[in-house]
Amino acid sequence: MNKFSDIQYVRPDVSSLKKQAGGYIRRFKNAKTAEEADAAFLAAVGLIENAGTMYVVASIRNTANMKDAFYDAEMKFYNRAMPMLMPLLKKAASALLQSPFRPALEEKYGAQLFKTFEMQQKLLSVKIILPTVKENNLTTAYSKTAAACSVEFMGEKCNFYGLLRHMQSTDRAERKAAFNAWAKLYEDVSPKLEEQYGKLVRLRAGIAKKLGYESYIDYIYPSRGRFDYTAADAAAFREAVRKYITPLCDRLYKAQAVRLGLEKLEWYDEGLVFPEGNAAPIGTPEELVAKAGQMYDALSPETSEFFAFMREHELFDLVTRENKHLGGYCTTLPGEKAPFIFSNFNGTSADVDVLTHEAGHAFEAYYAMRRLPLSLLASSTSEINEIHSMTMEHFAYPYMELFFGENADKYRYAHFTDALRTIPYLVSVDEFQHRVFENPASGPADWRRYWREIEGKYMPWRSYDGNAFLESGGFWMQKQHIFLYPFYYIDYALAQLGAFSLYQKQTEGQDAWGAYLTLCSIGGKYGYFDTLSRAGIPIPLKEETVKATAEFAEKQIGVLEEKVKG
Ligand code: ZN
Repeated sequence: MNKFSDIQYVRPDVSSLKKQAGGYIRRFKNAKTAEEADAAFLAAVGLIENAGTMYVVASIRNTANMKDAFYDAEMKFYNRAMPMLMPLLKKAASALLQSPFRPALEEKYGAQLFKTFEMQQKLLSVKIILPTVKENNLTTAYSKTAAACSVEFMGEKCNFYGLLRHMQSTDRAERKAAFNAWAKLYEDVSPKLEEQYGKLVRLRAGIAKKLGYESYIDYIYPSRGRFDYTAADAAAFREAVRKYITPLCDRLYKAQAVRLGLEKLEWYDEGLVFPEGNAAPIGTPEELVAKAGQMYDALSPETSEFFAFMREHELFDLVTRENKHLGGYCTTLPGEKAPFIFSNFNGTSADVDVLTHEAGHAFEAYYAMRRLPLSLLASSTSEINEIHSMTMEHFAYPYMELFFGENADKYRYAHFTDALRTIPYLVSVDEFQHRVFENPASGPADWRRYWREIEGKYMPWRSYDGNAFLESGGFWMQKQHIFLYPFYYIDYALAQLGAFSLYQKQTEGQDAWGAYLTLCSIGGKYGYFDTLSRAGIPIPLKEETVKATAEFAEKQIGVLEEKVKG
């Protein structure tokens, strides 16, 4: 394989793709043996993988520079073209599901894939081609609105992430000023964001109706591959979080206020864990990548091989630049069996989290794609995929001296408590989206009210220092997932419990790495609960698991606190 920058991009030829795929489908249907059927299936998969690789290359280059007109046009092309391929995909899936050789294929590829295809049959409908194109255009418009937001702050041009960085300053006046600038930036753009979200909500509710679902919630669970739990199970999980994890977090915030010498912790204080400053990584992005290389060499032979591959083929884009898409992600080039990591480094510990979290996703993709019969099977639903990444964050703890020197204990304390403190926020975002789609006719004022109520329930410590916009519930709109990836958020909370359980195994001297490799090797071949059980991870939706997690976390926080006090 080439270095990423040397990969030549060619737009897939849709009409020839349709023709070739049609040919493979015919070959598949006419197959006389299971081997013949399998060969036609694999040929069709190869075709999709190659086109998919081009799509991913275009999408990475688009996010790397949102103002690049060429890749912008390419993304518009995909937004139009992909829904048009729906009838073809439906035909292919139907041939697969009705094949007399289905048992042999299920044996090789696992039953989960067929279950997913069965669901897609139901969800792929010509009726939703147009609304899906509209949805893609709206999410693209949202991304542009968010990426264009910036403000002069302390002599530099800052986007939302830049301002969040100032909110970790040891100088409270600077934190507060950055917070005010941040809130103002959102407030100014809020009419536009609310308008965009309103269009998305109505469109999404309409898509569900067109497919015969009562509500978008009924549609989104099966469409996200949530076959093993329901909206009621998610509600029970949120309640368990409120019961066991919220009180623990509340104590952590109270301790933080004491540590910072504050009477009351405002939102802009939440990010500053230690009064003398959070642990920050030492080194340039290149040096951090080199240190990550040392870490993955020491962690295991499997991670060592993986990271050498990533560096050799330059499968990273880590530095922040103007016009780059916000946030970070890991994606894969299926035809190359290669992951790619994208991020916006900002000089805080979050940079190290990228080199562990996104690299955890990348490791799993690399490892699974080389062990499973299809690249497609490497990826599971996010309830599982996020365990791959979050567990790597915890397994990386012993190597943090490489990045933070004498502040490694501070990093470990902040990281572990952050992982815990995020859970109430994660379930808040989940409940918010349930409320919105239970009331699809709701509008901006309702959304702010929902958010305010939910926030008070799961995050009773939250205070915005009298900022009218945020105190009225404007905070919800800072979460891009609500716009771009509806209902993708509780997954992180569920996965975090899985990651804590693997980390607990490690602290208790069990074979945690072995369990992790098992998890990574099976990717998305099995269903959610089945996958958890094969890796020895308890089902996080159960109240007893949430309770046990809170107990482990409390104990671990005690250990970390002692070290930080030193
Ligand atoms: Zn992730």
